[in-house]
Amino acid sequence: MPELPEVETIKNELLPYVVGHRITGVTLIWEGIVRQPSVEEFRSCLIGQEIIGIARRGKYLLFSLSSGDLLIIHLKMSGSLLLKPTSTEPDKFIRAIIHLNKGTSLFFRDPRKFGMMRLVKDDSSIASKLGPEPLEPDFTPQVLAQRLNNHTAPIKALLCDQKVVAGIGNMYADEALFAAKIHPLRSGESLSPEEVARLQQAIQQVLWSAIGNKGASTDTYFRPSGEKGTAHFHFQVAHRLSGKFCPVCSTPIERIVVRNRGSYFCPKCQPEH
Ligand SMILES: [Zn+2]
Repeated sequence: MPELPEVETIKNELLPYVVGHRITGVTLIWEGIVRQPSVEEFRSCLIGQEIIGIARRGKYLLFSLSSGDLLIIHLKMSGSLLLKPTSTEPDKFIRAIIHLNKGTSLFFRDPRKFGMMRLVKDDSSIASKLGPEPLEPDFTPQVLAQRLNNHTAPIKALLCDQKVVAGIGNMYADEALFAAKIHPLRSGESLSPEEVARLQQAIQQVLWSAIGNKGASTDTYFRPSGEKGTAHFHFQVAHRLSGKFCPVCSTPIERIVVRNRGSYFCPKCQPEH
């Protein structure tokens, strides 16, 4: 699933090719991708609008339109937004095409069909569901400590909870916990101030590093150009298959399931107690 670094990369790479362009048409190959408003209204409200900016909040992309409306896109499990010449023949996983006025179009590719688009007046529908942005300067160890305070759930599950911190999912939670030397099953409230400080730093480090590598193409993630990201080549534990060894101490990496998510960690570097 695309997480913060993948969505941030998509935003950064779309910006120069999309902002200032006008939407000339909307092709919905699979209408279920539009969640709000009706398909007819969605199409008629988008056509003619200029895209004036793109922002990211958590794993959401927010396209600001000249009408004042916001087009919110979530890529969910398997979505990509590809920039291609308008004349390109869509492959079988393209669910929607937003046509732009200068010969390129935005192709929403989504093999598993969990992705969605919503046209709304403002971001209030998502703002209430999201915790702080982990790469903002105000995401301090104190803020993370407050978010974890009184939570008995495993830290791995808390990091993946969008209300606790926005944008982190399975891969970067595993990477951050490894970098911070914290076992994924430790409860949120059990972390010492030193461990929270290490974790806050680790979160920022793994996310910035992955953005630098244009995201991780472990599954169906592509950049708007169709190229893959390379962040997964630098993963220490995430997505390790059995038989891999800890890059720090050479202990075999273990996999456990935490709240339905496969979690990879080093039992020596990340002791449970
Ligand atoms: Zn180790």
